[in-house]
Amino acid sequence: MSYCYICGQELKNENDEHVIPSALGGHLKTKNIICSFHNNMLSDLDNYLCQDLSFLTNFVNPHRDNNKNTIPKVKMEYENVDLYRESNGDAKGLYFRADEDNGVLTLDVKLCHSANSEAEKNNLHELKKRLKGVAKQFQKDNAWVEMAYERILAESSAYSATEPLFSSFTINKSKKLFLSFLKIAIGYFLYVGGNYVDIQNAITTLKNRDIEQVHKIANYYYKRDFYPINCICHTLILIGDSHLNKLYVLISLYSTMNVIVILNNHYEGNDFSKTYSYDLYQKCELPCRIWKIETLEEIDEILRYDHLKKGFPNEFIEKYEYFMYLVYKNREIDELFKLLIKRVF
Ligand SMILES: [Zn+2]
Repeated sequence: MSYCYICGQELKNENDEHVIPSALGGHLKTKNIICSFHNNMLSDLDNYLCQDLSFLTNFVNPHRDNNKNTIPKVKMEYENVDLYRESNGDAKGLYFRADEDNGVLTLDVKLCHSANSEAEKNNLHELKKRLKGVAKQFQKDNAWVEMAYERILAESSAYSATEPLFSSFTINKSKKLFLSFLKIAIGYFLYVGGNYVDIQNAITTLKNRDIEQVHKIANYYYKRDFYPINCICHTLILIGDSHLNKLYVLISLYSTMNVIVILNNHYEGNDFSKTYSYDLYQKCELPCRIWKIETLEEIDEILRYDHLKKGFPNEFIEKYEYFMYLVYKNREIDELFKLLIKRVF
């Protein structure tokens, strides 16, 4: 028999709970740790996490158990044009401005999209729509619209983006990022058969959504790589350490967002470890070496890092750059764009 870790109710016919959210390509799931009601109630924490990591999800386009949710678009910038990238790699952006001065109509158009794509079709459709709007505003006829459209296309030229396009992003906007990671850590501990009794304080912190407390037990972890390298993985390492009296989980999402969560600061159980690492491109589990933190000082030092004041650590950027290198290595495509210029019509 199993019980909900939030309310203690006996579990029957519950919905699947994904330890790592399905929207991120997480595949570990169970019906034996949380009731459907509380699963639903905590789903906003999954959503915040997914929003925070949407730019990573977009580039990897992971296979998901639940394909109902579309993978988010990400905003990028190319030649000063806001560009929106779909998870299939297609991107489009349109900058359009019309000015009239003493009867002279100037169109400032910048058009960027992946060549020969659905995005291109949509972008050109949008361009024509904008031209029709201008025609209406400045009393131009349909022939003018066609002329302007053809002229813009004739003068556009193909460019090849020679470097990967990076997106800008904000992490932990909700301030609840570490509660989301605490939920993953608790989920994994219970998934592998851990006992609620060992993590009561951690469960209370999650239940109360105690942000102050969660910052005392969770933080970014970039001390060492604890997951397979040269691939993009979701990794979980659970350690019960009777010597340091700590029970903790190391979590790495997309081999980029790495976090430690202490589930019990006064752990009195036996030594044990569990690992899980899933390669998102190869779609398979990989062996993961067990990797323990050696000293209490190291844990204290990690938890002391003030991410609220200092933001995420520089190592995150290094991981992100390596992530992009791996993404482009796997895609082996050129992203092509066309762009245009200011013209008097
Ligand atoms: Zn419940």
